[in-house]
Amino acid sequence: MTVKAYAAKSKSGLLEPFEYQAKELGADQINIEISHCGICHSDIHLLDDALGITKYPYVPGHEIIGKIVAAGDSVKHLKVGDRVGVGWQSGSCHHCEFCVTGNENVCSGMESTCVTQYGGYASHFQCDASFAVKIPDGLDSADAAPLMCGGVTVYQPMRYYNLTPNQKVAVVGIGGLGHLAVKYAAAFGCEVTAISTSANKKAEALEWGAEHFVDSSAKGTMAKLANTYDVILNTVSADLHWDEYMKAVKPLGKLIMIGLGTADVTVSAPPLVLGQRIVGGSWIGSPSMIEEMLEFSARKKIAPKIEKFEMAKVNEGIKAVRENKVRYRAVLVN
Ligand code: NAP
Ligand code: ZN
Repeated sequence: MTVKAYAAKSKSGLLEPFEYQAKELGADQINIEISHCGICHSDIHLLDDALGITKYPYVPGHEIIGKIVAAGDSVKHLKVGDRVGVGWQSGSCHHCEFCVTGNENVCSGMESTCVTQYGGYASHFQCDASFAVKIPDGLDSADAAPLMCGGVTVYQPMRYYNLTPNQKVAVVGIGGLGHLAVKYAAAFGCEVTAISTSANKKAEALEWGAEHFVDSSAKGTMAKLANTYDVILNTVSADLHWDEYMKAVKPLGKLIMIGLGTADVTVSAPPLVLGQRIVGGSWIGSPSMIEEMLEFSARKKIAPKIEKFEMAKVNEGIKAVRENKVRYRAVLVN
């Protein structure tokens, strides 16, 4: 099968039409006809080779929704015609201590949807069926796309780090991930603060359940918030002065790094030691976590706010994300 995709031929280049031949379908694989694919900022970090792992031609895209058009003989839990989604991960070793305990997202044998193969800015995508999740009927396909990476990436730390309704939770960066984090943390019953450099995001953040909005564009803002939050979730695509954010965490609290725009996190040790604070990280989510997040989203009617772009206008979508103009997730439509 010929797959019609969009690829960058070089670092930070524009995407151009690109065709490749899909490999023969494996017994445990499915082939998906893609209807929608979200533009995650990780696609842009990869396009710019900011993580040093990009191979060109590079076909981005890891928030895939579509219908199964072919299924291998060993695939039992899905069938041709099913509407499914695939996120960042599209394969794992299935045997390590992490895979067998449902933590496939940290398997070192991970297949990454748009790193180890051509991604979802395309007509079709083929992968291990264990990493495709059925989309609940209550979720629209365009809305479901950003949940496959953005949604699970902010939902999983809330479960992993045990967010409780009595906690004060701050979300830093109200973009694709951050706006979903505000919605989920509010649905978990937490007292949510949106911390943003874009004052014009305030009204929507409050509408989604944030009780407070902090405009962080003014110098010295974070210093006034010392010892305020139980949990800070960083979803920013750039590097900030993380020590200022660490100081805004209460004793016993946690600063959770999710954004990939940061190479090093430098924080002073005394508040960490004396207040038993934690700096942690969080990385996507396992297939079972994606399934749980989709069900929770359908039940609580949590959907991203999206802007649609035709697949052929992919470069316009990427430009808008780079310029922080999208409200709040760009979704490509085939
Ligand atoms: P996005 O939609 O572009 O949103 C990022 C937000 O960060 C922006 O909307 C902006 O929010 C804030 N921001 C951007 N530049 C900034 C700057 N110079 N200073 C301060 N704030 C800035 O990106 P996304 O798709 O949500 O992804 C966010 C980050 O998470 C990216 O680094 C991405 O690679 C990473 N990511 C990680 C995982 C994981 O598993 N850990 C998964 C997916 C994505 P305001 O306008 O509100 O300030
Ligand atoms: Zn992503």
